[in-house]
Amino acid sequence: MEKKQFQAESKRLLEMMINSIYSHKEIFLRELISNASDAIDKIYYKALTDDTLSFDKDSYYIKLVADKENRTLKISDTGIGMTKEELENNLGIIAKSGSLAFKNENESKDGYDIIGQFGVGFYSAFMVADVVTVISKALGSDEAFKWESTGADGYTIEPYEKDSVGTEILLKIKENTEDENYDEYLEEYRLKSIIKKYSDFIRYPIKMDVTERKLKEGSENEFEDYREEQIINSMVPIWRKNKSELTAEDYENFYSEKRYGFDKPIKHIHISVDGAVRYNAILFIPEKTPFDYYTKEYEKGLELYSNGVLIMNKCSDLLPDYFSFVKGMVDSEDLSLNISREILQHDRQLKLIAKNINKKIKSELQSLLKNEREKYEEFYQSFGRQLKYGIYSDFGSNKETLQDLLMFYSSKEKKVVTLDEYVSRMPEDQKYIYYASGETYERIEKLPQTELVAEKGYEILYFTDDIDEFAIKMVMTYKDKEFKSVSSGDLGIEAEDSHKNTESEEQENKDLLGYMKQILSDKVKDVRASKRLKTHPVCLSTDGEVTIEMEKILNAMPG
Ligand code: ADP
Ligand code: MG
Repeated sequence: MEKKQFQAESKRLLEMMINSIYSHKEIFLRELISNASDAIDKIYYKALTDDTLSFDKDSYYIKLVADKENRTLKISDTGIGMTKEELENNLGIIAKSGSLAFKNENESKDGYDIIGQFGVGFYSAFMVADVVTVISKALGSDEAFKWESTGADGYTIEPYEKDSVGTEILLKIKENTEDENYDEYLEEYRLKSIIKKYSDFIRYPIKMDVTERKLKEGSENEFEDYREEQIINSMVPIWRKNKSELTAEDYENFYSEKRYGFDKPIKHIHISVDGAVRYNAILFIPEKTPFDYYTKEYEKGLELYSNGVLIMNKCSDLLPDYFSFVKGMVDSEDLSLNISREILQHDRQLKLIAKNINKKIKSELQSLLKNEREKYEEFYQSFGRQLKYGIYSDFGSNKETLQDLLMFYSSKEKKVVTLDEYVSRMPEDQKYIYYASGETYERIEKLPQTELVAEKGYEILYFTDDIDEFAIKMVMTYKDKEFKSVSSGDLGIEAEDSHKNTESEEQENKDLLGYMKQILSDKVKDVRASKRLKTHPVCLSTDGEVTIEMEKILNAMPG
């Protein structure tokens, strides 16, 4: 039997790919810059093992030149370059990655940062360009070549003049169409912002000539423009720096540069993990609740980088809902990306990272609570509600994680306390953790139901948030102590007056109680003589699981 090769209609394939795998056209710049960075990396790795080669950091860079008049954008690098064969193989065969091959050949060496692997990124240039020209001279070669293509109709290769080793990619930017603007890819400010967004942490300088405005010499109000070559990217990501070299201010600057928020973070968390999945992360606990935080519009998530290149703006899988206030980024070299490098192929690594991060956030919050109480209370003021929602949702499965982080106002301390503090202060004869719900502390204070408990000298937690009681129902017990609403039927407190007394009172006032019950017929279930009241004549109480406050909330809920 004869075995035949599949024939691919490469023209069509190319078109399909170019127009379907990337969600944003601006990605082309990320891809070309990543390739340039890979090319420089390759020289760097070669120099590590080849004594005749030296790597002088200053002579390696990536440069962008936009020419509006001719509608061209040039991206050049001083990387390893390509031979004629390499131009044909790597740029002429779709899904052929010279970078992946390089990684495999040099597997023994550590610390690979090479980004490329799929062999398609280069073609993204055709999303914005009609013609792509590549001029390249390979390391160790005397000749240079020019590769040129209009995308669909294949390519040409011819010898060309180029003095230095490296690659130049010239894009003939498309004309604007009715619904697509291409001019923007020739605008300095736009290019700058795309570089900042995706390629800020490429390790080699990305240079560009930009126009700046300055005061004319000798003048106080006249300005003049001048051209200047600038390095656009920050290069060394803060998360790869040594923690000991970084100050609180460095982190704060990063927070505001990244526009994570307009406040100052209460705390930063810098994580470097070298385990089953390697990653670096910088996380922040904001100080203030973002204005849209408790609305549907708020989007949780962390920035996700693969090897310093931005993959996802808001990766929501990295944060549980109850920590949705956390801001920051994760960079990992171990992610398996899909071909567009915009989404992840498997989420095993991501799940591991998310799990680690979750633990870390919790322990950092706990240490904040322990060591910087004031700051914690500030944090709790802003995001405590979210923690309580966290306990309430998922049927209380998060209570182990979150219950130690809860705080409620205490009748005794006149400030917020943790459940642990409450329980550790409980007198021996106290069976329950008591709470009272109401709109404000002042109102709760005046509730007749609190009297007996307070008289006993027991502490009462004041619940003023809608969610409080619902969350506590999910916690159920804390350190083996059950929670008890002061308005529940049985408070578990032995009243000084004996049982008989209430019974006889009940007998004595039978007519009165009966009459009251008749008048309130559909409003209450029963009217009883109470042993819990001290100075108030009456109070409401409940028998079941749902307290009066909860009933109010449930009744107010739509649907
Ligand atoms: P990938 O980067 O995933 O390998 P690309 O389509 O982006 O795929 O690039 C294909 C190949 O072309 C690269 O693997 C590399 O071998 C080669 N290449 C692309 N750009 C350059 C460059 N600027 N310098 C040297 N080689 C390059
Ligand atoms: Mg690439």
